[in-house]
Parts: sequence; structure tokens; C-alpha cells
Amino acid sequence: MNRVFNFSAGPATLPEAVLQQAADEMLCYGDSGQSVMEMSHRSKEYQAIIDACEALLRKVMNIPENYKVLFLQGGASSQFAMIPLNLMNKTGKADFVLTGQWANKAYQEASKLCGADNCNVVASSKDKTFSYIPELDSSKFNPTADYFHICLNNTIYGTRFAKLPETGNVPLVADMSSCILSEPIDVSKFGLIYAGAQKNMGPAGLTVVIVREDLIGNAKAGTPTMFDYTTHADNGSMYNTPPTYGIYILKLVLEWIEKQGGLDAMKVHNEKKAAILYNFLDNSKMFKATVEGEDRSLMNVPFITGNDELDAKFVAEAKKEGFINLKGHRSVGGMRASIYNAMPVEGVEKLVAFMQKFEAENA
Ligand SMILES: *Cc1c(COP(=O)(O)O)cnc(C)c1O
Repeated sequence: MNRVFNFSAGPATLPEAVLQQAADEMLCYGDSGQSVMEMSHRSKEYQAIIDACEALLRKVMNIPENYKVLFLQGGASSQFAMIPLNLMNKTGKADFVLTGQWANKAYQEASKLCGADNCNVVASSKDKTFSYIPELDSSKFNPTADYFHICLNNTIYGTRFAKLPETGNVPLVADMSSCILSEPIDVSKFGLIYAGAQKNMGPAGLTVVIVREDLIGNAKAGTPTMFDYTTHADNGSMYNTPPTYGIYILKLVLEWIEKQGGLDAMKVHNEKKAAILYNFLDNSKMFKATVEGEDRSLMNVPFITGNDELDAKFVAEAKKEGFINLKGHRSVGGMRASIYNAMPVEGVEKLVAFMQKFEAENA
């Protein structure tokens, strides 16, 4: 069996040790005589899995007691609607920073549900294809907004907020789909954190929401039951069938992270990989990173040659060598290497060696 180095933005590569354990337990989990996939979510075996998963997530991310952890479905994209339905309930206004397609969707969905006039755009980097994080002028923040939304790591454009906006008493809400678990963060600085699992946590189909308790319980009238955080918070994410297998894989991923030394170790590991790749890009005559300075993402690294034909040739030859999914997002072009937690240093070193060879052969 030849496993490739998978640079996909998501669904993405998972730790091989996790896949191996899942394979070993596929037909029979413990002495249960069944696969986790076949288990009743109401069984005591499964309750132990979801409880362990939540406890581990709380430990690894150091989540304070006054936050709920919810295991949902519907992707980060459903949160774009669920957040305004649950949070835009006092002044009915919210602030947004537009740093790319995902941030934009969060803004558009809130505008649709609560009125565009109530959704304030604090800043945008659209003028340069979202290749930077805009400076934030705090005089443009609404001090009575119900929340302030950012996308912490912009998967498509390869930017990230190096520092968080100071929003005072306004709850900071962050889409962390593509950077959760990549380094330590102070959860208490946020009102709500959400992430689709398929980047750094596990398989597609699981969405994790970490929400401060005081933000639950005031959903707008008419909010569907499944879109009200209260429903899931009051029922331990078991109002309906949760994505049981995805939660089990997240538990294995969290065990793997702990074994590596937790989020401090993940940060060192991720900074090391990003430095190898950015250093090469900064010294190459052929390849160039599209993002500069502290805005550079540790997780998603877009780059170009400036020549579409050469880009296509590179992506095709890389694939033949076992480096897959390097094509950039259709809205940016060029290439993008997503180097999430599960990408080994070796994968990035080998990619850079291949890029050096490609550059020499095509100079
Ligand atoms: C992938 C991604 C999404 C979309 O997630 P879905 O689970 O497909 O809805 C949203 N935001 C960010 C930052 C992402 O990386």
C-alpha cells in the first residue's frame, strides 16, 4: 500500500495512527461485538465515547466550565445561519470582518435572516483578492452589537488573524474550521467558536460548537428546534442522532494530539512545517507565496508561478509523485498546500525537494 501526501484543504489528511486504530476496531469495538458505526447512540458504550471525546476536547483546548461543547451536523455553513438565529437577539445588530468567502457567507446569511442594515462591515480585504488581513479601526465597531464575527484562518486565501480584535463586551464569534487544534488559543476571549471537523478534527459530517452558556437560550421566535442551541445543550448533543462515527474519530484524533504533547507541541510542529515551505517560496525564482508577513496562515499556503500552464504542469507532475490536491481554489488559481496537524514534517520536506527539482528542470 502506498499512501500519498495529501495536501487537500478538506476533507483532509488524518493521522495514520488514528486510521490504523479505527481499522483495528472497525469490526469490533472493545468487547462490544460491534462496530462503533453500528452502535445505538443511546447505548452505554457509545455514551462513554462521546463523554470521553468532550472531556478530551475540554482538556486539550482548556475550555472553561461556563462553555458548552456541542457536537452537531450541517457543517460550518449551517452555523452561518444558526449564529444569527441564536445570538442576534438584543440589539439585533452584528459586526463582520470580510476576509474571504467563508467570512462573506457568514455575513450574507446574517443579512438574510436579520436584515442587511443590521449587519455592519467593519473592514474588508476584497480589494486585493483577500490576500491580507485588513487593519481594524475600533471606532467602526458597534459597541452594542450582539456579536462580532471573524474567520480566524481563511482556508482559501491562506491568511490568518495574528492578533484578535479587542471587542470589549461584544462576544467575539470565530469560524475556526481550518485552524482549530493547530495551536493553543484562549477560549475565554470568545463568545462562540465553531468548526467543521474535516480539516483538523476528523471526517466530514461533524461540526463542533463551543459556546458560552449565557449566549444560549434566546433564539429568535420561529427558530427551528434543530437550529436552537438550547435543544442541543439541554440534551448533551443527543436530541437526535449525532454524527456518532465522526465523534469517535475526533476522540482518537484528540488522543493522538495528547500523545504528541498537546496544542503546544502542535504549534511547534505546524510552525516548523510552515517555515520550511515559506522559506523555500521566499527564496525561489519560480514560485511565490501570495500572502506576506504575519498574515500568513500556518495551515493553508497558497502559491503561484505566475504562469497558468506552468502551474498546471506542476500540479500534474506533483500528483504523479504522490503529492495530491495541490491545485489552488478556483477563485484564486495557482497552488495551495494545506498542511494541517496530520501532515508530517516529512511530507513538507519532500514537497519542497520536489519543487526544487521541478524549478531546476523548468527554469
Ligand atoms: C471548510 C470551511 C467552511 C465550510 O465548512 P462546511 O463544513 O463545508 O460547511 C467554512 N469555513 C471555513 C473557514 C472553512 O475552512
